[in-house]
Amino acid sequence: MNDSFPEGDWPKLEPGWVWLCGAGPGDPGLLTLHALNALRQADVVIYDALVAPEILQWAPEAEHIYAGKRGGKPSAKQRDISLHLVDLARSGKRVLRLKGGDPFVFGRGGEEAQTLVQHGVPIRIIPGISAGIGGLAYAGIPVTHRDVNQSVTFVTGHDQSGQTPSSLDWQAISKASKVIVIYMGMKHIAQITAALIAAGRSADEPVAIATSATTNKQHVLETTLGRAEADIAAEGIEPPAIICVGQAVLMRQVLDWQSQLAGTPPRNTDPLGRGRPAESA
Ligand code: SAH
Repeated sequence: MNDSFPEGDWPKLEPGWVWLCGAGPGDPGLLTLHALNALRQADVVIYDALVAPEILQWAPEAEHIYAGKRGGKPSAKQRDISLHLVDLARSGKRVLRLKGGDPFVFGRGGEEAQTLVQHGVPIRIIPGISAGIGGLAYAGIPVTHRDVNQSVTFVTGHDQSGQTPSSLDWQAISKASKVIVIYMGMKHIAQITAALIAAGRSADEPVAIATSATTNKQHVLETTLGRAEADIAAEGIEPPAIICVGQAVLMRQVLDWQSQLAGTPPRNTDPLGRGRPAESA
């Protein structure tokens, strides 16, 4: 650790270990100190497509191995990645497995960790900021708000076969959760929005779609359940995208802090129409 790193008893990445670490949604400033500590010690970093390239610069001496599944590069099979981690650890490397967001949120980190443990490789897990929370925060959307929701549901728009998960009970989700955050939902947006409308949600319900959230390419589309598919096509927006359904999206009208940084005043300081100061009882 150099002088600028906070003092403390930081864990040591030992040879033969794998640390499975979240890199956050994009902005390198959203790394944790444990992640930075890991980057500074690793011999090899195996990273996914959604890990921002700037983050790897924190590990200039380490070997960088791409294990992503998109971006036009050849895709690595999940089992191959896990076994590669086992091999690297057994060869005495200090291995950092870096994944976008949080490794245990729709990231297959649980599977990789399980394979490592089954092969007797010691691990440490370093959580990260997940796109469904941190990405939406950068879009000015709080995933819970006292006036909106007492629960939030995170769902994936893809299952193992690449289809909209048939195991998801959209009726139940729709009923139970006023705010729904959807990962990997772009491909099946038409089915997902139709399922929610069929389950009783209004076609006028607000939806936000944040692409490349927290990066300098962040774009946020505000639409509705009824219009989402057409608006996505019209704007030609590309994944990665995090989709938020529910009244929480309206809070962006007051909390779009990035636009405010750029000089645009809030559109509406009381978007939920409470007509009272936010903190009053
Ligand atoms: N483990 C990750 C999720 C991996 S699944 C996490 O915790 O964030 C990949 C999906 O995450 C993408 O399809 C997209 O839905 C979402 N995602 C990840 N990074 C994102 C970003 N910067 N902006 C928008 N969505 C993102």
